[in-house]
Amino acid sequence: MDYLPIFTKLNNRHCLVVGGGDIAVRKVHLLLKAGATITVCAPEICDSLLEKAENNQLTVINDTFSDQLIEGKWLVIAATNQRHINEHVAQLAEQKQILVNVVDEPGLCSFIMPSIVDRSPIIVAISSGGKAPVLARLIRERLEALLPMHLGRLAQISGEFRHRVKSVISKESLRRRYWEKLFGNGDLASLLQKGQIQQAQQFMEDNLTEDVAKGDVALVGAGPGDPSLLTLKALQLMQQADVVLYDRLVSREILDLVRRDADLISVGKKAGKHEVEQSRTNQMLVEYAKQGKKVVRLKGGDSFIFGRGGEELEELVEAGIAFQVVPGITAASGCSAYAGIPLTHRDYAQSVTFVTGHRKENGQPLDWKALAIPHQTLVVYMGLLQAQELETKLLMHGRDGKTPVALINKGTRQEQQVITGCLSELSKLGGGLEGATLIIVGEVVELADKLAWFNPDKNQKLSRDPFLVNLS
Ligand code: SAH
Repeated sequence: MDYLPIFTKLNNRHCLVVGGGDIAVRKVHLLLKAGATITVCAPEICDSLLEKAENNQLTVINDTFSDQLIEGKWLVIAATNQRHINEHVAQLAEQKQILVNVVDEPGLCSFIMPSIVDRSPIIVAISSGGKAPVLARLIRERLEALLPMHLGRLAQISGEFRHRVKSVISKESLRRRYWEKLFGNGDLASLLQKGQIQQAQQFMEDNLTEDVAKGDVALVGAGPGDPSLLTLKALQLMQQADVVLYDRLVSREILDLVRRDADLISVGKKAGKHEVEQSRTNQMLVEYAKQGKKVVRLKGGDSFIFGRGGEELEELVEAGIAFQVVPGITAASGCSAYAGIPLTHRDYAQSVTFVTGHRKENGQPLDWKALAIPHQTLVVYMGLLQAQELETKLLMHGRDGKTPVALINKGTRQEQQVITGCLSELSKLGGGLEGATLIIVGEVVELADKLAWFNPDKNQKLSRDPFLVNLS
C-alpha cells in the first residue's frame, strides 16, 4: 500500500491554497465543504474566489507566495502553474512537517486527494495513487450509481440511535446483528427514500429487541474456485458471518472475501481421508448457531451435489436451528464452461449424468450398462483414483474405446489444466495430476479445442479468462 487512506478533520483548521485559478477553486470548494479556514494566496485571483472572500468564506492574499504564509497551517495545497513555486511550497511544507499536496505532482505530495463519493456522513474515497486516474473516476461513477442517495440519511439517524441500541442490547455481537438486519431491510430503505425520517426512526425502535440474536446457518456453495463465480448472496453472507467452516476445495482467494473478523475453521475433506469427521462438523454447526452466531458453511461447488449438504441440514433440523441454502456453481458447470466443453449438444449428447467415483462402502453400485450408452455425457466427480475402474467398466459394457475424455484439473482457477484423450487410455491420462480433478466422458469433448476461449484481438486461445476490468 503506497498510501494509507485516512479521513482528516479540517473543521476550523487553517489551510493554505497557493494559486488562484480553476484548479485552486476546485480544491477550495472541497476544503470549504470540510469546514476549513482557508487562506488563498496568488498574484492573480479569479472572480469566483474573490466572491467567496467577499462572503467571508475565505481570506485572500493578492500577492506572490512568501514563506511566512505557511506558518501555523495544518495543510497546504500548491495549485499554481509555476512548477518552481509548487516545488518550493512543497519543500517548505515538508521541512515544517505540514501536509502538502501539489496538484498533478504525486512525487511532491505528502498526501493525495482521492475521488470522492459523498453520502455524508458516509464518504467513499477512491485513489489509484496517481497511477490510473481515469480508472479511479470510472470506479467512482460506478459507486455513485450503486450507493443510494438515502445512505447518508440512514447513517445519520443510525448515529443518533446508537446510544439507545446500546442501552437495550448489551452484547456487542448482538448489536452488530441488529444493525446488519436493519440495514438489510427493504422497508426501512423505502421509508428513507421517501424522506419519511420519523417513520424510519420509529421502525428502528420497533425492531429493537434482543431477539435478533438467534444464530443461524447458511449452507453456501462457493463454486469451483474462481472467486468471480461466487453468487452475490454468497458474498453477502460471507461478509456478515461470525464463523465460517470451509472445505479444502474452497480457494484462498474466496476465503479472502470473508469478513475480516470472522473465525475461519477448516473442516477440509479429501476423498477417503476426513480431516474433521463429518459428525464433528455437523456438531460444530449446531454449537456455533446455539451461541447466537451467524454461521456460514462454505463448500466447494454446490452443496447439494456430492457435497453432503443434505446430511448437515438434517442435523440442523433436528436441533431446531434456522438455516438457508445458497446454491453454487458446481464443478461440472464451471469446469466444462472454462474448458469449452458443452455438457449437452444437439449433435453430440442428449443427456448428461453426474456420478461420483467415491461412494460409501456397501453403497449402491453404478448402473454401468446405462452409463455406457453412447451420445450421452458422463461427468465423474472424485474419479481420479478410480480412473482405471471407470475405463474398464465402461469398455466392458460397450462404450467405444475411442470416446473422447477430458480431465480438468483445478478447473476455473489460474492453474486450470485440461487433458484430453480417449476412453481406452483414460487411466494413463491423469498420472501426474494432483488436487481436484473432474472427468468428462463423451462425444462433446471433441469440441474442447474448437470452443476453448478465444480472444480474436490477440488471435490466441485462453485457458481461462484473465481478470477483466470491464466497467462499461
Ligand atoms: N460439491 C462439489 C463437489 C464436491 S466432490 C461441486 O458441486 O462441485 C469433489 C470433487 O469435485 C473433486 O474430486 C473433483 O472431481 C470435483 N471438483 C470440484 N472442484 C473442482 C475444480 N475446481 N476442478 C476440477 N474438479 C473439481
